[in-house]
Amino acid sequence: MSDRESKDLARKEQRTPGSTPAKAGNTPGKVKKKNNIMDIEDQSGGDNQNTVFKPKSLAFDDYEENDKSPYDHPVYKIISMKNGEINRLDLSSLKRVCKVEGLDSLGKRDAIKRRLKEHFKIAMLKKYGLFETPAHRSFDYLVVVDFEATCEEKNLPDYPHEIIEFPAVLVDARSGLIVSKWREYVRPVINTTLSPFCQNLTGITQEIVDKASEFSTVLDNFHDWISLQSLGNKYTFLLVTDGPFDVGRFLRLSCHQINIDVPVWATRWCNIRKAFANFYRSNSSTKIKAPGLQTMLNSLDLEFEGSPHSGLDDATNIARVATRIIKDGGQLRVNERLEENLENVSPTRQAKARLQHVVPVTRKEADNWFREMRRKLEMAS
Ligand code: AMP
Ligand code: MG
Repeated sequence: MSDRESKDLARKEQRTPGSTPAKAGNTPGKVKKKNNIMDIEDQSGGDNQNTVFKPKSLAFDDYEENDKSPYDHPVYKIISMKNGEINRLDLSSLKRVCKVEGLDSLGKRDAIKRRLKEHFKIAMLKKYGLFETPAHRSFDYLVVVDFEATCEEKNLPDYPHEIIEFPAVLVDARSGLIVSKWREYVRPVINTTLSPFCQNLTGITQEIVDKASEFSTVLDNFHDWISLQSLGNKYTFLLVTDGPFDVGRFLRLSCHQINIDVPVWATRWCNIRKAFANFYRSNSSTKIKAPGLQTMLNSLDLEFEGSPHSGLDDATNIARVATRIIKDGGQLRVNERLEENLENVSPTRQAKARLQHVVPVTRKEADNWFREMRRKLEMAS
């Protein structure tokens, strides 16, 4: 779109940015027109008088594309005002708007608000030729894992957890679709007999693990599966977990028990709890910093599918949350990493005895890691 066309459109938007001007007889609180995404008015029927979208003055005429940062474009002011409008809608109004826009209306208020904001933002950016497709910034696949491990009812900090279930769910990171699943059980060699508590919790019986291979073989088999999916040679992938424990405790311990380093692909991962909290965060004081799986599913109005603490079922449900974030316009990236050298870990973190080897990853580090993965792939091809 040319500069001029962009400005013309912007002027048009300035005149009627949030809705067609209210005509006599228009019922307040109705979504009026389906083909213009900005045509939304408050539907709560009274309280939210300010939600009709009418920005007063936007300096489109002053905007010169060449000498400003992209974020100076007046469209961002429109987006910000639109966000304010969405913030003021109640749950049933939000759901109604979703339906009009052809969006999924499942979820609690924060989740739907975020869905709508992303939807309108993308539409507006597209309209002004500013939308940059995130495809080249996104991993090709997500590999969701959720290990089950030997345990007692009360695990002491030095309990030698051994992985007994190694599941993986493969998600296409662009479409959000689950494309493959893999699982092997693992025979423990330190605590060879599963505690009744562990069997009850995970549903994994002694018979299942007795028949399974040891960890080193299962890890090799997992690597074969990864290769079969062309992950790491044709496609980039991001490891996704529910919390820091899967790698920080279970995988790390299982690798050390057989005297190997944690494989490079597992040294950085996306803790979906953090990703979820960041993406759907609200200003509410009740905000949960890193919600557990059940809380995330509840927020999205999703039922847990299968049995909790079955590794493959847990991984599938984590994948469903990841799918929702992707469909709502979010992007998953690395946000935690393993640090084997405790000299590089702050004393506060070290005080968290079982997770002292897990450290947060900044956005910049995450981007660098992504670029590194892409570069390795290009060099291999
Ligand atoms: P999860 O992914 O929540 O199923 O938990 C992974 C592993 O953490 C389990 O296989 C157990 O080893 C351990 N675990 C989880 N919940 C408990 C619990 N309530 N008590 C003891 N260990 C647990
Ligand atoms: Mg689990």
